[in-house]
Amino acid sequence: MKNKAGVIKELRKAIEFYSELGFEYLPLKREDIPGLISKKTSITGRGTAYANQNRAGDEDNYVPDKKDALKNLRKDIGDCHRCKLSENRKNIVFGEGNPDTELMFIGEGPGRDEDIQARPFVGDAGKLLAKMILKMGFRREEVYIANIVKCRPPYNRDPEQDEITTCRPYVEKQVEIIDPRVIISLGRIAAQSLLRSKIPISKLRGSFHDFQNIPVMPTFHPAYLLRNPKGKWLTWDDMQKVLEKLKGG
Ligand code: SF4
Repeated sequence: MKNKAGVIKELRKAIEFYSELGFEYLPLKREDIPGLISKKTSITGRGTAYANQNRAGDEDNYVPDKKDALKNLRKDIGDCHRCKLSENRKNIVFGEGNPDTELMFIGEGPGRDEDIQARPFVGDAGKLLAKMILKMGFRREEVYIANIVKCRPPYNRDPEQDEITTCRPYVEKQVEIIDPRVIISLGRIAAQSLLRSKIPISKLRGSFHDFQNIPVMPTFHPAYLLRNPKGKWLTWDDMQKVLEKLKGG
């Protein structure tokens, strides 16, 4: 067990890490570090709102636009080695799409094709996802697609809890910047990680949940749907609910 000095050192590292990412407070619950923190720890950083665009010449009131903010975040991630998934990856798969979108998809992590191409959802599951997005009335480029962990777990195993926890600030920051109206999480790991829940995906799907004050609709992962095509009907129900929400329903 770590002594108090060790815990403080770890905590300082965590604060610096979150501060680099622009967080203004630590996303920790009091019970995560009993006896050490009595209330939200304040750290300075950039604001939480990002402009869709800035008026020309308005340097005094400059707010980074979402595209720049995402670029800065990618720069901050750099050649990340914060967890053991860095050991076997070829590329960090940051995410891609329209930063001004109202609809964001979050999967669990890159697979083989994604690792090679450094793009999310480009294999067979990605092709199915693109079809689902089209069926909803969007093109893939009009939404934003990211993953919970940015590096491929070896042999496509599930990401482990320590890897999810270490990578989590990145997806939290992506969501904060993009600030979509609705998130669709794809598969069990994405839903349970975002919602910090152990409830099975079959029970989570079909209704909205909350992540950073944004409605999340968990649904099945396209890779699961490739193996279990009957699940497509339930997924389509979930998509309909999302479309209603986007229309203001
Ligand atoms: S999975 Fe995330 S935390 Fe781990 S090495 Fe990759 S980018 Fe860093």
